[in-house]
Amino acid sequence: MSDTDLGTLYVVATPIGNLEDMSPRAARLLGEVALVAAEDTRHTSRLLRHLGLSVPMLSLHEHNEAARVEQLDERLQRGESIALVSDAGTPLISDPGFVLVRELRARGRHIVPVPGPCALVAALCAAGLPTDRFLFQGFLPARTGARRQRLEGLVTHQETLVFYESPHRIRDTLVDIGAVFGERRLVLARELTKSFETFLDGSAPALLVRMEADPDQARGEFVVMVAGAEARESSDSASLEADAVIEALLAEGVGVKQAAAVAARLLGGAKKVWYGRAQALKETR
Ligand code: SAM
Repeated sequence: MSDTDLGTLYVVATPIGNLEDMSPRAARLLGEVALVAAEDTRHTSRLLRHLGLSVPMLSLHEHNEAARVEQLDERLQRGESIALVSDAGTPLISDPGFVLVRELRARGRHIVPVPGPCALVAALCAAGLPTDRFLFQGFLPARTGARRQRLEGLVTHQETLVFYESPHRIRDTLVDIGAVFGERRLVLARELTKSFETFLDGSAPALLVRMEADPDQARGEFVVMVAGAEARESSDSASLEADAVIEALLAEGVGVKQAAAVAARLLGGAKKVWYGRAQALKETR
């Protein structure tokens, strides 16, 4: 069998919320392949139904990806083409597929990208932060200690920093970003391409206050973008300075009591102590 008789692996991006973002090419290919390898077949079957397609599917997720390589390669060698999709967006970007693509490329198989939605690109292109250089960090570690350590390692980077985050951890992550980056500007992109798409702009402490005032702002899926070290608008040092944080909160119109609560959460210590400090700073304004 010559190389041209082999099948192709198409790496197909799918919508991150708005089904109109499905490209005609991606839809056509999903209808033409012999098999769709999907992160979650139930999830992808909804997309296929929406497109009016009925295509055999096979699950490919982080727990079985390595074991699927031989099976999928055999099908390519039989001349069958395969589409790789994840639940949303571009496969391999904080999603399964890397092991498969690495192994198949090492074997010289034909792999074709079918580009489309990707949350980090969608977020960056509308955030108003520098995009000439950015550092995508995927998901931060789940535990606070490891998360702060990772953030501390990024504090001097000049590129715009980009993270993915879930609604369960968004507040904790903002607390840690505030503790490490202080007043550094960040942009929070929420529910991209969906009905409640929102971009919030401000320091981590200020955004936490916004979330306390409007808990809906903590719902949904997030891309967190932090200004790079040179691009930040504040000249404060990267380390957190308690007075600067409280002053910024007061300047945002946040009351003394709430500013003290945020300071206590960010920096530890008793709310009562921070209340006194916030009161004093307010009086000297
Ligand atoms: N492969 C996907 C991509 O191309 O963007 C990312 C998959 S990753 C498992 C899921 C994370 O991407 C979410 O937790 C969130 O951080 C981000 N994300 C996905 N869809 C999003 C959306 N509509 N709005 C904001 N963030 C989104």
